[in-house]
Amino acid sequence: MVGIGLLLTIIAMADFFAAFGGFGVPGNFWMAFIGLPLIGIGSAITKFAYLGPASRYVAGEVTPTIRDTLGALGIGGGTTTCASCGGSNAADATYCDDCGAPMRRVCPSCRTANAGDAKFCKSCGADLPV
Ligand SMILES: [Zn+2]
Ligand SMILES: [Zn+2]
Repeated sequence: MVGIGLLLTIIAMADFFAAFGGFGVPGNFWMAFIGLPLIGIGSAITKFAYLGPASRYVAGEVTPTIRDTLGALGIGGGTTTCASCGGSNAADATYCDDCGAPMRRVCPSCRTANAGDAKFCKSCGADLPV
């Protein structure tokens, strides 16, 4: 694409300067109008082809970080780490999908969700059954 555009532009330029040299109206100058945009489109496509995988790589590197940050802040579909095995679970998981350990303990007296390894309810202090 860039090659074709470059070729057309060179032909057009050669003709243009030949015309200046006294050979009359440049007959091939229109080629520059095709050649120049072709160079532009061609290099844009080339850039895109190179930037595509690069930006995907960056996105792949950054997205989990953003998700973890949001998860730590309690926003969106974040993840929570299992206290028992260290496995990553959905933030709203009740049980670890790796080892089956409870990710949260719902207080039997006030229904507050406590951490999976909590022994007493953080809200009312009730003894949490293991
Ligand atoms: Zn686990
Ligand atoms: Zn409670």
